[in-house]
Amino acid sequence: LDYEEGRGWHSPRVVPYQSISMDPAAKVFHYGQTVFEGLKAYRTADGRILVFRPDQNFKRLNHSNERMSIPHLDVELALEGLKKLVQTDRDWVPETEGTSLYIRPFIIATEPVLGVAASKRYIFMIIMSPVGAYYAEGIRPVKIHVESEFVRAVPGGTGSAKTAGNYAASLKAQEEAALEGYSQVLWLDGVHKKYVEEVGSMNVFFKVNGKVITPALNGSILKGITRDSMIQLLQSWGVPVEERPVSIEELYEAHRAGTLEEAFGTGTAAVISPVGELNWRGEKLIINGGETGELSAKLYETLTGIQSGKLEDKLGWMVQV
Ligand code: PMP
Repeated sequence: LDYEEGRGWHSPRVVPYQSISMDPAAKVFHYGQTVFEGLKAYRTADGRILVFRPDQNFKRLNHSNERMSIPHLDVELALEGLKKLVQTDRDWVPETEGTSLYIRPFIIATEPVLGVAASKRYIFMIIMSPVGAYYAEGIRPVKIHVESEFVRAVPGGTGSAKTAGNYAASLKAQEEAALEGYSQVLWLDGVHKKYVEEVGSMNVFFKVNGKVITPALNGSILKGITRDSMIQLLQSWGVPVEERPVSIEELYEAHRAGTLEEAFGTGTAAVISPVGELNWRGEKLIINGGETGELSAKLYETLTGIQSGKLEDKLGWMVQV
């Protein structure tokens, strides 16, 4: 789809994957005016193709558009485009268990004008690629570096939008953490560096004394669709979930008191990712003996079961393409 001021979104089309030509002055290259989404399609044993909550991704895309001064996109039109694209070649959705088709919708500002002002032209595109199982050898806990120097988002900033700048701001910390053997970074709030926000591409949950706690959506955290789904699932099981500020000290104290039972991340790529270790300012905290917790495993099994069509989709999340 293309957008021009005065004309709106127009010219929907499906074309073979190819390079695109852009003016070097296109605003996206200089001012980062761009938003994106990530979602997955799965093939069931009986050959159906199911997409996980795509309406939520396009709603969130519009939330990001709002923050980045990009014109809204019609959710129904975007959904139709996504379905058409997946239908053009159903073989793209892999059959092997655990694999899926990753779908990346995005918008870039293409107006070739240097000058800090919202673009008057955009392109909306969807690209896709088959992806292997994130945990091909079984679900395994991750080690996470708690970032105490850099920040990713601040109140009033772009943290709740899915836009390139947030990820660009995270690369340095991610690189340094990787050098120390940590695969992920846990971000603290941008003002006090005290409250837990989210992991690089996951929201984060803690089980403390039988209760599940997750940082409240405070405007600088991405409103994860897996996060929302896991809260719904936990509540349907009668497990209380608290959405509130969670300080890093609270977690270390709970660990000392023996009440920090589990931690896990949630996101489209990793689904449910148990956390085996946190390292904050050199102080290591091993959670659940570094093993996958019972609740994390149950959430993982249930969510992947629903996505692959093996379990009943009681909450109405899957959309057939
Ligand atoms: N936080 C960030 C910063 C992310 O990039 C993602 C991945 N989209 C998430 C959280 C998890 O969101 P979702 O469950 O919608 O994939």
